[in-house]
Amino acid sequence: MKIKKLKDIDVSGRLAFLRNDFNVPMDKQQRITDDTRIRESLPTIRFLLEKNCRIVCASHLGRPNGEIIPECSLRPVALRLGELLGKPIAFPGEVIGEKVEKAKKALRPGEILLLENLRFQPGEMKNDESFARELSKQVDVYIDDAFGAVHRAHASIEALPRLVKKAAAGLLLQKEIEYLSMAVENPPREYLLILGGAKVSDKIPLIENLLGKVHTILIGGAMAYTFLKAKGEEVGQSKIEPEYLEKCLQILEKADRLGVRIILPGDHIAAFSPEPQITLKITRAGETIPPEMMGLDIGPETIESFLKEIAAARLIVWNGPMGVFEVDTFAGGTMEIARAVAESGCTTIIGGGDSVAAVKQAGVAEKITHISTGGGASLEFLSGKTLPGIAVLKS
Ligand code: AMP
Repeated sequence: MKIKKLKDIDVSGRLAFLRNDFNVPMDKQQRITDDTRIRESLPTIRFLLEKNCRIVCASHLGRPNGEIIPECSLRPVALRLGELLGKPIAFPGEVIGEKVEKAKKALRPGEILLLENLRFQPGEMKNDESFARELSKQVDVYIDDAFGAVHRAHASIEALPRLVKKAAAGLLLQKEIEYLSMAVENPPREYLLILGGAKVSDKIPLIENLLGKVHTILIGGAMAYTFLKAKGEEVGQSKIEPEYLEKCLQILEKADRLGVRIILPGDHIAAFSPEPQITLKITRAGETIPPEMMGLDIGPETIESFLKEIAAARLIVWNGPMGVFEVDTFAGGTMEIARAVAESGCTTIIGGGDSVAAVKQAGVAEKITHISTGGGASLEFLSGKTLPGIAVLKS
């Protein structure tokens, strides 16, 4: 995929609009609980600083839906970014307007300004061109580094780069595209896809897109139960999506035709509900989940068979936990898989969201080749969809 890159355009001394993804988790006191996304933005910011740019950073945070919600202010991000860079970040506290234009004008080379939450303005999520025009004022170059938002046709992602003469992908966006492309373009034969999580419906487009490319798919989590039920197995009270039974059957048949192995759990950790202190049943392979119980984690025999597949792979893409890993009692499968993926020695790509939390919980995040900063965006990328924020940067 050919897109305009930061190094392809002359940014020296320019006023650069940098679209970041600073949508970081915060606690009730607006303290940032995980600053990964801010840290990941630093290489592009440092690149622009070296080129003497004046930088206007912009991001969304949460879903204020066009209203000013104080809890969604980016002020804590401005402070954290300033700490990480060792320099103050100007924060006009607004997204567009006179105050912002004055602040832009006051910027000296090597200075940074952060706009207030883009979604405080209704035009952002509507991809409104006149709002994008406001954002574009005084801007010479547009850089997108917000991978977590490129699947959204929003004004700062789609309309704005069309209005600015020079637009390119930042270093983080380039890195994301480079690694995720490995999973869709010419992957090695020993390509293993591991899927889990709550909903089979979320992952079907991804399975359909990758079915012709992967060698083996391991399925755990709640989504495995819709597949098992489709095969006629009793799954008790396990979380299933009945409207997808037929689709799961079609996928299993297609995989069979293509020679792709889809491996489903053979044994389970089952309980009456996903609570920590609850009666457990560990089913044996071939034994079904009792009618009044639900499957909440993969069982020991499944773990063992999954670990063998992981050891034989050369490329692993993982999205979604193997069980209700937020509750220790049902975290075992996900933790074992996280450790095995990290130790596999092959190229490992983890697609956002809960699987990222899982590798962090297992303490092995450093050993993963690429952890995506965008859950929804990575899922859509791997599903083969056109992402508006990437399409607009095509060279
Ligand atoms: P997703 O966002 O689709 O990746 O789903 C992640 C969620 O799936 C986590 O909150 C898990 O607790 C949940 N999950 C995983 N396995 C199960 C299961 N067997 N039953 C119910 N929920 C599950």
